[in-house]
Amino acid sequence: MLRESEIVIIGGGVHGTSAAYHLAKASKQVVLLERRSIASAASGASGGIIRCHYSNESMVRLAHRAAQRWPELESELGQPVDYVRNGLIVAVAAEDAGTMQEIVRMHQRVGVETEVIPPEAIRRWIPEFHIDGIALATYEAEAGYADPYSAAVAFARKARELGAEISTDTKVTAIEAEGTTSWKVVTDKGTIRTPLVINCAGAWAGEIARMIGIEIPVTPGLLQMVAFDPKYPGWHRYSPTWLDMTTMTYCRPDSAGLMLAGGGLSENAAMENPEVDPDNYPARPPVVFEAEIYENLARRCPWAQGMSRVRSWAGPDGNSPDFHLIFGPVPGVRGYLHIVGGSGNSFKLCPATGEAIAEYVTTGRCTYLDLNSFSITRFQEGRPFRGKYRMHIIG
Ligand SMILES: Cc1cc2nc3c(=O)[nH]c(=O)nc-3n(C[C@H](O)[C@H](O)[C@H](O)COP(=O)(O)OP(=O)(O)OC[C@H]3O[C@@H](n4cnc5c(N)ncnc54)[C@H](O)[C@@H]3O)c2cc1C
Repeated sequence: MLRESEIVIIGGGVHGTSAAYHLAKASKQVVLLERRSIASAASGASGGIIRCHYSNESMVRLAHRAAQRWPELESELGQPVDYVRNGLIVAVAAEDAGTMQEIVRMHQRVGVETEVIPPEAIRRWIPEFHIDGIALATYEAEAGYADPYSAAVAFARKARELGAEISTDTKVTAIEAEGTTSWKVVTDKGTIRTPLVINCAGAWAGEIARMIGIEIPVTPGLLQMVAFDPKYPGWHRYSPTWLDMTTMTYCRPDSAGLMLAGGGLSENAAMENPEVDPDNYPARPPVVFEAEIYENLARRCPWAQGMSRVRSWAGPDGNSPDFHLIFGPVPGVRGYLHIVGGSGNSFKLCPATGEAIAEYVTTGRCTYLDLNSFSITRFQEGRPFRGKYRMHIIG
């Protein structure tokens, strides 16, 4: 049976569901196709950290727009997203201290609530924190975290309430051009004719783009996290997320007082390796990863020594060559938009990406997102995002 829709979104992660919600709110007729269930890939595995600490201004502006929306999202959607404003500490070694000063000045110009702090001040928020090797730190008060699964489900439910069709267990198997004005999106449950396809397929985004007939530089990557239980009352749901740039390790609390952590030098090395099959990857990280993260946490937080591992997990995301999001149209390709290349750091952006895509579809421009910086053309034009710190975890 051939059906019609004004817009077809492919992918039920945070970007696809946010796009569906914002487009439905703008009175567009939307069908979202998800081959499994909502948030079944990167968005279900995500650490959920929300921060503005990036080294490129366009990224900071986008993250800041999203950070401003997170506290209100639950009441806007009428569904839980479990947002907690807990703040963020970033700590750097002497080699990155000058860069940090510059970056924080840029953040303050953009309007991010953030300040440079001396390393000892970290103990105001994290008791007994060892500061050896740390030359400077920042505290970003407006950072937080949310539950990525709940956020995607909340966007999807609200989109459905506003009239969008959310079809899970529906896999896109082909996309055929029909003349010059529409596509036939073929799924295992039937075919939909549409003038506009929006690719939000995460680690599979390259595959969807090839169905359209284009190559995009998005390859599957794998990220991993581990949860420890320090059983320490000084570490709780409002303790700040911290990012130790000397070991590339990050850690945030959850509402049960666990330490959810990831990064590390081995993961950073693994991110450069594109050999990941998003349909067949180890569900648990290797023991060496867990051991590395344990060491890095326990070295900074003496009260964490001897803590037990509660669980660990991995999830696939689409990586772009500069590990930043790719957003918007592709020159010369009509009826196609994408929000792809999340690169292990795009959960936080989802309230702003959906908003921006709805604005682009309805007005042809974006107020909250610098279309040119995030365009796929940045790679051919030699202007990829370049992280200013020594390692790209910050971007
Ligand atoms: C372990 C881990 C930790 C992370 N931590 C953070 C963090 O702390 N903060 C942060 O900001 N970001 C973080 N990220 C990154 C962030 O979660 C992702 O960038 C973001 O969730 C990507 O969302 P998405 O909607 O693009 O992709 P996904 O959530 O992967 O959604 C894509 C969807 O497309 C569907 N799909 C694919 N092919 C088809 C098809 N043919 N037909 C129909 N559907 C299809 C898939 O089933 C999938 O559900 C982390 C990611 C991981 C994996």
